[in-house]
Amino acid sequence: MQFFTRLVVCLCVLSLTAAHPPLQVESPHGFPAKSHGPSRAEKNSIHSFAEISPLYKLNDSYIPLKYDLDLLVILDEENSGVGTQFTVRGQVGITFQVAEPTNMVTLHANVLEIFRVTLTNVNDTGEVITLGEPILSGDDRHFMTVTTGGVELRPENHYQMEVIYIAPISRGDLNGLYLSNYTDSDGNLKRIATTQMQAYHARQLFPCFDEPGLKAVFNLTVTHKTNYTTVLGNSDVAGIEESNLPGWSITTFNPTVPMATYLFAMVVSDLDYSQAPEGLFKVPVRTYAPPPVIARQGGVYSAEIAARLLQFFDTYFATDYPMPKMDSVHIPHYDSGAMENWGLNIYREGYLIYYPDETLETAKNLLTSVVSHELAHQNFGNLVTCKWWDELWLNEGFATYVSYLGVDAVRPEYRHKEWIINDAIQYSMRVDVSARSHPIVNDAVTPDEVDSYFTGITYEKGGSVNRMTEKFLSEPTYRKGLQYYLRNLSYTGVTGDDLFHYLNVAAAEDNRLPVGVTVKDVLDTWTLQKSHPLVRVSAGGSNLVYISQERYADPDNVDLWWVPVTVVTQDAPTLENWVPKLWLEGNVSIKSVEHDTTKWIMINQDATGYYRVLYDEALTGLITDQLNQDASVITPLSRSQLLDDYFNLAYLGKAEIETALKLTEYLDQEDHFTVWEAIFTQLRQALNFAQTLEEYDPFKNYLSPRIVAALMRLGRPQSEGELVGAVGILRAKLIDWTCALGAPECVNFAIELYEEWQADDTQTILRDIEASITCAAVANRGRAGFDFIMGKYVATPITNPAKVRYLNALACSQESVILQDLLDMTLDAGTSITPGHGLLVLQRVAMNTVGRELVIKFLTERVDDIITILGEGKPAPVASVLSTLGTYVASQPELDQILKFVVDNSAKLVELTSPINGYLNTIRTNIGWKINFGKRIYSWMADAVQPPVTTAPTGTTPTEGTTRTTGTGSTEATTQAGGQNFVPSVILITAVSGYLVYNNL
Ligand SMILES: [Zn+2]
Repeated sequence: MQFFTRLVVCLCVLSLTAAHPPLQVESPHGFPAKSHGPSRAEKNSIHSFAEISPLYKLNDSYIPLKYDLDLLVILDEENSGVGTQFTVRGQVGITFQVAEPTNMVTLHANVLEIFRVTLTNVNDTGEVITLGEPILSGDDRHFMTVTTGGVELRPENHYQMEVIYIAPISRGDLNGLYLSNYTDSDGNLKRIATTQMQAYHARQLFPCFDEPGLKAVFNLTVTHKTNYTTVLGNSDVAGIEESNLPGWSITTFNPTVPMATYLFAMVVSDLDYSQAPEGLFKVPVRTYAPPPVIARQGGVYSAEIAARLLQFFDTYFATDYPMPKMDSVHIPHYDSGAMENWGLNIYREGYLIYYPDETLETAKNLLTSVVSHELAHQNFGNLVTCKWWDELWLNEGFATYVSYLGVDAVRPEYRHKEWIINDAIQYSMRVDVSARSHPIVNDAVTPDEVDSYFTGITYEKGGSVNRMTEKFLSEPTYRKGLQYYLRNLSYTGVTGDDLFHYLNVAAAEDNRLPVGVTVKDVLDTWTLQKSHPLVRVSAGGSNLVYISQERYADPDNVDLWWVPVTVVTQDAPTLENWVPKLWLEGNVSIKSVEHDTTKWIMINQDATGYYRVLYDEALTGLITDQLNQDASVITPLSRSQLLDDYFNLAYLGKAEIETALKLTEYLDQEDHFTVWEAIFTQLRQALNFAQTLEEYDPFKNYLSPRIVAALMRLGRPQSEGELVGAVGILRAKLIDWTCALGAPECVNFAIELYEEWQADDTQTILRDIEASITCAAVANRGRAGFDFIMGKYVATPITNPAKVRYLNALACSQESVILQDLLDMTLDAGTSITPGHGLLVLQRVAMNTVGRELVIKFLTERVDDIITILGEGKPAPVASVLSTLGTYVASQPELDQILKFVVDNSAKLVELTSPINGYLNTIRTNIGWKINFGKRIYSWMADAVQPPVTTAPTGTTPTEGTTRTTGTGSTEATTQAGGQNFVPSVILITAVSGYLVYNNL
């Protein structure tokens, strides 16, 4: 499964709520409503049930073989007595064996109304076994147990349990079988029934052995109204016939291969599709979406890329994709990012639909990555599946890593073998030292616990450890081991030990590990404990260097890691491969290597090992000197990781921030996207928190020339083609940062493009830099610029993503009067702001340093209107604005104002007390961070730039509390508060984001 960012999830939920007022799923008679876990009293009351049934896991007691599923799906009001709208009449025959003799059967069922359960001995006498009444666990285990009245079920027999029941079509939670819809080109609302089963929701559609390791064949038959012309299942359609019910049809699917219940999927709809060109893959590969989307060619790219990816994965892993087709479906209402249901992947729009004339390159990159991730799952997750959710990384850590290989193969311009360093390694290392971290192998048992482990550790750290394993074993050996694993364990549930066994077979064949050491010895140390090593490199005299490992994130733990170490030096600065020169064994904290310590030495080239490295002061100085003399001697990924390590170690108190900053002096030579990505990530907070000219100007004067140098080397983009791929995305980011920092090289470029556009608005601005350009235009062209972009905003249809880009640009104004007007528009009926965009305006203005004060004042004065108009009576928009302020505010006076607002309005915000307290704590943390690091960064940069130059982002010198004139005669009013100086907007830096973190949220 692929998750999505919290922000967009919220937007999705909001949009769904707008279309459908939340409806309670009525619990079918006799069954409990969906539980969020048993209460203390319930836990006591279920104790007796636990005595007759295992706790949460079925523990290999049953071997399911086949599900014969017959579902009648009732989506519409007029059903001629067929059944109740938004229900499914279901009948399932479950063929299974038992592992040991028993006189009861336990399986999963949730929110099902069950009418009849029968059990037949299939291959013996055909005996029908009389069952006791089903016993329901009544808690979040969702167990249903039937007893056999003393008849012993034996392992050598096959049994079939048949259940007749009714299941709900959910209209609240987007899981199980649930309702979605879209509006067709004639304005009609069209219904869709669709599924999301991971991790434990199949039991909401049919009784089943609902564990990931319990696989079976699915035979599916769906009865549906005939007007639903696109009915999809995991397998292909065997036939469609008329039902005895007038106006109804029966669609029958071919059997699936054996698969886990959480991979079951079906869609009842009238969606349309694009199909990949013939010859790209052996079976049909299609992208399904609402017909208006397909009509705009929105499915063409993903269908083609999916076919190419499937072919790559089959070839690379020597597998043979076993399903008769591959459908990818865009469902308008979808909580996760995407889901890898075998043969029937489901996505939210942004991860599947690409419009050639609209979609940004960053979005295309992300889309390609997510499609690759889901198709990687067809092997890792679907063919071999984690036996239980505690080893979810066997699905997600592999899909994460393998997706980079896939994108690299089919879209090399995105350079994913390099991008992984920012996207997975550096990202997950930050998570791994936070309170949110956990071992890759977790202890998930309950459904809530299972949900909580879809994290950056399971995904991105899991993926990073896979990359490390590939590098220390070498790519051919690693690939061979995975081929053994996939070939031998197809269609089974697996454990980490299974994986390690087959990797070890390959490692032993190729002699890749030290004598007596196994893959399990190494990888247990990386998967069973949280955090990762800090490796120190220190001179031990003129000809010796010590390499030592230590824990630093959770010092109470004393366990270490098996650490692969590669070494490069000033005399031998490149490696042919990443096979370790030495290992720090799991019980060894220090080793030494010979080295002339007058020359630089670096370990862990290209960050193939998942750890941070800190050199002693002298060695750090030698590396710094090399960077300043000729950075290209050190590989780009090593440069990126070096910088990321030192900043993160500084923020953790393990290094001086000034040492990290000194490593940035060479950046005027730097134009590699992984390095700039690391720098932008590490310095973004310091820039966000810069509030006065004394803080902002050093930042700008030090960093801006270095970014400009990179931009000038790459060239300012003049065509769409120059904004393609990883380098194109970097170009757009460099534009974003240089314009935000007020570099004349960018601002003048932006104004030039804007004025050409203003003179002839039939032209367009390259969409990948449009956010930056329009923001700069509004920031630097006063009321005229604002009015022009407002005109564009109003004229752009809501379906065009450019509309939100224009809205963001409007919030870039540096004039308080204009920003106040913009805020007022959000609450005034009949203004130009589209309904539904009001909250977005407040949040974007809150990101603007000039506008922040206005937003706090606006909250204070208009809180009732905000709740009434933007929240439809609920205070959620207030909390959303406070959340944004929590990200950007780092000063005590602003915190005091916000605290006063919260206290004065506590009764109105009472239901959001907990998240609001979290935002307030974030601001307190921000204030501490700024004191500890931000001010030292500003100070170091001020010293590094001599003499300091004080300028505003437009190239003019602002005067406190005055109105200043920009080049074309328009004016910029800068309202000052509390004696603070004018501060430029930096909000557009968030406008272009190519960072591929899915945050599992
Ligand atoms: Zn996944």
